[in-house]
Amino acid sequence: MKKDIHPKYQACKVVCTSCGSEFETGSILSDIKVDTCSNCHPFYTGRQRFAQAQGRVEKFNKKYGLK
Ligand SMILES: [Zn+2]
Repeated sequence: MKKDIHPKYQACKVVCTSCGSEFETGSILSDIKVDTCSNCHPFYTGRQRFAQAQGRVEKFNKKYGLK
């Protein structure tokens, strides 16, 4: 490898914003935030997570007592 042209490869903390799990990896960054990880992704867990945010239509219907 050429000298002084490569970014520093270091230990990196990855934080999952969905389930809060943390793990270490190597990167040029010191920390990374991810939306999903092997701990909470349905492919690995084998079950579906339900959407956390309520849709606009549901909110409207609830507000006006509609079905
Ligand atoms: Zn996760």
